Amino acid sequence: MGSAATPRFRFGSLRHKEICVPFKIIASQCTGCSACEPLCPNVAISEKEGSFVIEATKCTECVGHFDEPQCVAACPVDNTCVVDTSLPRYQAPG
Ligand code: SF4
Ligand code: SF4
Repeated sequence: MGSAATPRFRFGSLRHKEICVPFKIIASQCTGCSACEPLCPNVAISEKEGSFVIEATKCTECVGHFDEPQCVAACPVDNTCVVDTSLPRYQAPG
């Protein structure tokens, strides 16, 4: 009892460590225009209290989908979607 439910959780935890999550949105600069939200291939962006946020566990820097981070490309406010230097960079496989 109890041990059967652990493998999926452990796998999820391992992926979180391997696929790092480098971008964040500076909330004080976000106008809430929503331009970035539909462009994220990982559905990592959502609205929260008038500005938008990136869910760290879903962001992969758009690697494998686009040549550049789509949130950065779409955002009309410079330096609002930025690398979260508190987290390690995502490393593309191969
Ligand atoms: S870098 Fe790409 S994957 Fe990460 S939040 Fe921005 S659009 Fe989504
Ligand atoms: S595109 Fe930029 S300003 Fe617009 S919601 Fe996204 S982070 Fe905010």
